[in-house]
Amino acid sequence: MITPKDIESAIRNVPDFPKPGIQFKDITQVLADACLFSGAIDLLIDGFKPGSVDAVVGIDARGFIFAAAAAMRLNAGFVPVRKKGKLPYQTHEQDYALEYGSATVAMHVDALKPGARVLLIDDLLATGGTASAATALVKKLGAKILETSFLIELKFLNGREKLKDCPVRSIVVY
Ligand code: AMP
Repeated sequence: MITPKDIESAIRNVPDFPKPGIQFKDITQVLADACLFSGAIDLLIDGFKPGSVDAVVGIDARGFIFAAAAAMRLNAGFVPVRKKGKLPYQTHEQDYALEYGSATVAMHVDALKPGARVLLIDDLLATGGTASAATALVKKLGAKILETSFLIELKFLNGREKLKDCPVRSIVVY
């Protein structure tokens, strides 16, 4: 059985990437190890049974990796939340604040049915801006978020504060 400690041991901290001052959490060595990757998915969806979730929403881009694998395991669909301008069909968009400036995420207008039971997954919760924008898109379509799950949480950035209206799970906390 893979534990959060096992996952933590494989997460590499890369200082000053992509810019000075950022401690980048590199998850590629978790993905490259079959047991750790599979165990990470187990931890992200623990407690949810196949049939209890209609769609797993993943956030561009590393969130896709975990969300797609979780969707397969839960026998659920996979829905991408992408950076603005990447989805081909009509979209709903949501802006969110960055340290300097803002960014926008998008979802297809017909990506989720009203009432759909949704799990939202990303690799990392930092300030919570990205995830809260994604939850706003899910809610706009009338779907219900059962939980938001992250492999990593940077607790000192208080991202949970922005996700107060849904349960938040994180596996490795810094
Ligand atoms: P935020 O909107 O501040 O919660 O940022 C979350 C998004 O930015 C996630 O999709 C992460 O992939 C990425 N991210 C933010 N900080 C880091 C970090 N220190 N290491 C790796 N990815 C990060």
